[in-house]
Amino acid sequence: MITEKLELSGGLYEKSIEKAAEILKSGGTVAIPTETVYGLAACANSDSAIKKVFAAKGRPQDNPLIVHISDMDMLYEIAANVPKQAVKCAEKFWPGPFTMVLKKTDKIADSVSRGLDTVAVRMPANKVACDIIRKSGPLAAPSANLSGKPSPTSAKHVIDDLDGKIDAVVMSGSCDYGVESTVVSLDGDTPRLLRPGAVTVEQLKEILPDIIIDKAVLAQPESGSKVASPGMKYKHYAPKTETYLVEGNSQAFADFVNSKKNSLAVCFYEDSDKIIINKLTYGSGNKEITLAQQIFSVLREVDNYGVSAVYVHAPSKSGVGLAVYNRLIRAASFRVISL
Ligand code: AMP
Ligand code: MG
Repeated sequence: MITEKLELSGGLYEKSIEKAAEILKSGGTVAIPTETVYGLAACANSDSAIKKVFAAKGRPQDNPLIVHISDMDMLYEIAANVPKQAVKCAEKFWPGPFTMVLKKTDKIADSVSRGLDTVAVRMPANKVACDIIRKSGPLAAPSANLSGKPSPTSAKHVIDDLDGKIDAVVMSGSCDYGVESTVVSLDGDTPRLLRPGAVTVEQLKEILPDIIIDKAVLAQPESGSKVASPGMKYKHYAPKTETYLVEGNSQAFADFVNSKKNSLAVCFYEDSDKIIINKLTYGSGNKEITLAQQIFSVLREVDNYGVSAVYVHAPSKSGVGLAVYNRLIRAASFRVISL
């Protein structure tokens, strides 16, 4: 299969949006930009198209997909018994990097929810994504990476992973947030945070004061245990190089990594001057959104260094930092060193 590259610049915007929607409506797969990460889209009512998404990514068969919509009518088409607090969340956080898990209707292909009676729904803010969804209808779209690898935040990352495995990729710029959406389940008694993202716990508490943070957000689910969000039990975002997450202040982190041989430090701008071994910076420790924007592209570079270990300076767990920490602890296979 040849993956078509749909360019947006040079007056090609309308034509490429039209083409992307056409491919999707005829059962194909298209990688599209969103404000979180690039998604690999397929029509949410087509079992055969969804099958292609799982095959291209090598996605575990029990891991359900998020459905992306462009207006509230689409929400009521795919979700049943939408509770009041979901409507409030939609008013506050949509369009944006926020996903709700709700009871599903029969408009959703079984292959999207993988046997669950719920559906995860998001209304993205990215203009390209919205323009495509308006023409194609609701799109199931997981991150457009090979399963297990860091999520893609540029069209190049998508091509590196999926060239020849998908019908097309929409060539757009880098993603605004760089980490996947915040996922909250609202289908049971108490709202539960399943995955942290750019909509923070602090913001969620304004609408959902009793929200519970699922224990899988920061801890490794026990093997064989049932998890609220199937995606949380899989190894994720991991470089091949053995990765460790290191908690401590700037000086302690620098002293620790400087004593390591044949290693790479992934550090904050603020640490950089103190570090004398191989290093990659991934943003400012004081501005977590910069860490979110760069963490996946930095994790994609780690293996090029040919070192035996990589030590990543852990962000704070507040604000967007919690989302970055959640991805890194998985990249590090839950190996945390506290200095
Ligand atoms: P990704 O597709 O890579 O953005 O990951 C989507 C995340 O949402 C995964 O962790 C899924 O397990 C989770 N998810 C999707 N649908 C549901 C659902 N119906 N219930 C719980 N979690 C879900
Ligand atoms: Mg993913």
